[in-house]
Amino acid sequence: MNDHLEIAVYGKGGIGKSTVSANMTAAAAMKGMKVLQIGCDPKHDSTRLLMHGESIPTVLDVLRDKGTENAVPEDVLKMSPIREGNIRIGCIEAGGPKPGVGCAGRGIISAFEFLGKNHIREQYDRVIYDVLGDVVCGGFAVPVRREYADAVFLVTSGEFMALYAANNILRGIRNFDGDKYKRVAGIIYNERKLEDEDGRVERFAKAVGLPILVKIPRSEVFSKAEQQNKTVMELDGAEEEKVKFQILAKMLEDGMELYPANPLSDEEHERIVLGKADAAAEKQGIVEDVTEESKDPGEETSASAAGITSNTPSARRPLYGCAFNGAASQAVHLTDAIVIAHGPKACAFYTMQTISSPGKRNIFNRGVLLPSSISPNFTSTDISHAEAVFGGMDLLRDAVMQALDQKPGAVIVVSTCVAGIIGDDLKSVEDMSTEEIPVIAIPADGDMNGDYMEGLRMATNMLLDRLTDRNIPKKTNCVNIIGEAGIATNKDSNFAVMERLLSAMGIEVNCRFLGDAKVEEVRQILAAPLNILASDTSDAQMLKQYMISEFGCTFLEEPLPIGFEATKNWILAIAAFFRCEEKAKDLIQNEQKDYQEKVAYLKSHLEGKKVFLTTINSNIDWLLDTAYEVGLNFIHIGVYNYLRTPLVISKHPERMENAVEILDASRTRQLIREKKPDIILSAYTSDEGDDHAITDALPMIPDLGVMSAAEIMERWIRLMNTKRKGEWESDRKLFEKYFQ
Ligand code: SF4
Repeated sequence: MNDHLEIAVYGKGGIGKSTVSANMTAAAAMKGMKVLQIGCDPKHDSTRLLMHGESIPTVLDVLRDKGTENAVPEDVLKMSPIREGNIRIGCIEAGGPKPGVGCAGRGIISAFEFLGKNHIREQYDRVIYDVLGDVVCGGFAVPVRREYADAVFLVTSGEFMALYAANNILRGIRNFDGDKYKRVAGIIYNERKLEDEDGRVERFAKAVGLPILVKIPRSEVFSKAEQQNKTVMELDGAEEEKVKFQILAKMLEDGMELYPANPLSDEEHERIVLGKADAAAEKQGIVEDVTEESKDPGEETSASAAGITSNTPSARRPLYGCAFNGAASQAVHLTDAIVIAHGPKACAFYTMQTISSPGKRNIFNRGVLLPSSISPNFTSTDISHAEAVFGGMDLLRDAVMQALDQKPGAVIVVSTCVAGIIGDDLKSVEDMSTEEIPVIAIPADGDMNGDYMEGLRMATNMLLDRLTDRNIPKKTNCVNIIGEAGIATNKDSNFAVMERLLSAMGIEVNCRFLGDAKVEEVRQILAAPLNILASDTSDAQMLKQYMISEFGCTFLEEPLPIGFEATKNWILAIAAFFRCEEKAKDLIQNEQKDYQEKVAYLKSHLEGKKVFLTTINSNIDWLLDTAYEVGLNFIHIGVYNYLRTPLVISKHPERMENAVEILDASRTRQLIREKKPDIILSAYTSDEGDDHAITDALPMIPDLGVMSAAEIMERWIRLMNTKRKGEWESDRKLFEKYFQ
C-alpha cells in the first residue's frame, strides 16, 4: 500500500458522487486505511452519511466567524461515528456562499489554504475530495492540481449532461497535465436506468480511452441507507452494492493504472454520446450553455454596456495602471464627493499612492492631477477573504450608508477586480441615492474594463452623464475649463493664468472639469456658453468630442495660449465670442507691454548666444518666436523623429532650414564638442564638451500665457550667472580645508 494517496472524485451535481465518495471512504476505512473525506461542494452535504446525519461546521463558516488567525483544525475536522473495527474517518466540508452571491471557487481556494497551513491531509493514508464537476472555474479545479490529486475518478450516469460534465472535467485536467501526464483512473458509472444508458457510457469511455471501473446499479438500497443516514457499507445485506465499493477500496489500497485526459470536442461528444437519433432533442440546452460560457468577457463589459467605448485599444498603448486606478484617481477631483473603492485594501492603497505621491505621479504623469487636498475623500470597503467568498454587497451598502451620513455632494463607488469577479451588483447601490445626494457606481473592475486611461475616461464620462443638469439655463460671461491634465507641476499656475486673462475681460470660470470641482459646479456645467480646453492631450480631445456629441457643447477652437502670439489670438477669439473686444484690446496692450519689457531684458543678456537645440518632432513656435526676438543664434537644430513623420518644429519654413533628424546620440555629443554652444536646449544632456554651456530641457506641457518662453529664458540668465563646473573646485578646496 502507498503511504499516502489523494483522490479527486468529480461529477456533475446530483449525480451521486457524494454517495459514491462516502461509501468508497467507508469501504477503504473498513480495509484499515485512515481516510479523510473533504466535501468541496458549497451544499456541504458530502460527509452527511459518514457523520450519520450530523451537519458539521464548514471551513468557510469557521474562517468567516473566527478569522483565519484564530481558526484551528478541530473546528472543522470531525471524526465519523462509524465504529466497525478500528475505523478512522475524518470529515471536512469546505462550504461556500449562498447561491447567487460571492465566489464559491474562491471559497474552495481559501479552504485548501487552511488545510495546507494546518497540515491536516498529511495525517491520513487516503484523502478523498468530493468535488462539483459542472462548475469549471479555477477554484473548483484546485483539487485537480497535481499538488493535491494523485488520481481522478469521474462519476457519471448515462445522462447527456452528466457525460458532458465528465468531458469538461477531462478538459480541465488536460489543461493542467497536457496529453502525456497520466492522472485519470477511470469512470465510476452510477446507473440511472435510462434507455441506451450502458451504450452511451461505454461509447464515451471508449472514445476518451478510459476504463469503467465499476457500474453501480440503481438500487433501493441507497435510499434505504439514506433514510437511516448511513452508508451502504454499514447496512446488513446489500452485498451486491457493497462489492462495488470494495473494488474501489481495493484500488485505493493497491494503487491503480492511470490514463491521460483525452477530452472530446463538443461535436464529437454529441455524435458519440447521443448518436444521430436523439442529438437534436438534447442538443439545444447544451449549446445555449456553451455559447453563454464561451462569450469573450471583453465583448460586452459593464463599461461598454454603459455606452462607454474606448477609441484606442489598450493593447496598443502602454499600461499606466488599471481602470480602477484611473477611475478613482479621476473621481477624487470632485472635492466634495466621497469616493469608495469597493475592493481589497491593497487596491485602494495602490491608488492612494498614485493620487498622493509625487514620485508615482511622475510615472503616471499622463492625465493625473493632484487633488487640492493631499488626503482626498477616498475610502475603501476593504474586501477580505470572507467577502470574496460570501459576497461584498453588505459591506458596500454599509460603506455607502456611512458616506451618506456625512452629507457629501455625491457618493462615488468604484469597483475593483475582486468586486467584479465575485459578481457584486455594483449598480444596485445607485438605488441608495437620496434626493440631495446621488450615489454613482463606476464599474471599473481593474484590467477587465481596460487600462488606466480607459478608467479615467470612464469616470469622467459617467460623472458628466449622472451629474449634469441638461435643462439648466445658460449664464452669460462664464466658461468651463475642460480637461486639465498633464504634468501636475504647472497645473495650478496654468489655471491661474487663464483665470487672470478671463477675469480681465469680465469672464468667470463656471466649472473646472475635472480639476477640483464641486458636485454642484458639475451639475451646472452646461450653464456656461463656452468651453475651453486646458491641455492638448488626446484624452482632453476625447472629452471635448464627448461633450460636443453628448451635450452639444461649444468649444473654443483657438489653440492653447502658449507664448505671445497664441495668447493674443486666444484672447481675441474669446472676446469675439463674448463681445468684449474693447476689454480684450486693453488686456493685449498690457500683456504686450510686459512681454516687450521682458524681451528687452532677455536680449541684453542673451543676444547672439549660440543655442544647440535637440527636440522631439513637435511644434515649438511658442519658444522660437521669443528666441528669435531675443536674438538667439541657433547653431544646430536636431529632431528626434520617433514617429517617422515629416520634421515639424515650426510653421515658418525658414526656421526649418537648419533642422536635421537625429540618428545617432554620439554624433550629437561630437557636434556639441565641435560647435561649443552657450546653451544646450535638449532632452539629452551630456557630461562631455559642455563645461562652458548651460543645459536646459523643454517642458512637456509648457506654461500658459505670454511669458511661456520668456520665463524659461530668464532661467538661462540665472544659470549663466551661476558658477560653472570648474569653479566649484575652489569650493571643494574650502570644504577640505575645514572638514578633512
Ligand atoms: S488590477 Fe485589479 S487587483 Fe490590481 S489594483 Fe487594479 S483593481 Fe486592484
